[in-house]
Amino acid sequence: MSDILDQLSLDGVHVASGYGTRWQRAVVAVVLGLGISLAVLQSIANPVFLWVLFPVLVVIDFLSGFVHWFFDTQVEPSRSFLGRIAVDFLDHHAHPGRTAEVGFFTSAWRPALLVSSPLIAFSILAPLPVWLRAVVFWIGFLSMLVPQTHKEAHLGKRPAPIAALQTLRLVIHPSSHQAHHNDNTQSFCVFTGWLNPPLDRLRFWRGLEWLFKAVRTG
Ligand SMILES: [Zn+2]
Ligand SMILES: [Zn+2]
Repeated sequence: MSDILDQLSLDGVHVASGYGTRWQRAVVAVVLGLGISLAVLQSIANPVFLWVLFPVLVVIDFLSGFVHWFFDTQVEPSRSFLGRIAVDFLDHHAHPGRTAEVGFFTSAWRPALLVSSPLIAFSILAPLPVWLRAVVFWIGFLSMLVPQTHKEAHLGKRPAPIAALQTLRLVIHPSSHQAHHNDNTQSFCVFTGWLNPPLDRLRFWRGLEWLFKAVRTG
């Protein structure tokens, strides 16, 4: 597998590294600043914004698992748009420790641009009932933090507030994520990790793999 990554690297497709280009940092900073401001203002204006947080955390945990599963198992690393993202997923399994060298802006710009921006805009502009507006907003905003919750599960040293969130299982605990690196057919969720035990018990990801294969082969 690392032969594929070496060949792609020669072709100019590199594994994510560093702290982000100037425009990547700008995109993340704007979306993050806007998201925090809207989260505070809307939660003060209507407490429904806080009430929906629990189900939203479950949904984001599932989405984090689905995206992770999709790029781990369904996309070949290549020069294509999706293939370039798969390069980072494949490399992470070959070199899990390298995640610590990838800055927040480098890992957050894709979800910020492709998920957070459109969903936050939709939550503001679409005529939705308030609870649904809150759900769409939080899914959009928190999605850009998923790479960071995953990265924190790999760091030897982490800030006390992050360690506390991990201990409370409000973000994924390192031991919960290690189960995926021990067996990369399970435990794909990397946000809170709440869904890993039930989905693994149901063999959900194996079932999804079977389903995708059946659809592809007709
Ligand atoms: Zn993986
Ligand atoms: Zn990992």
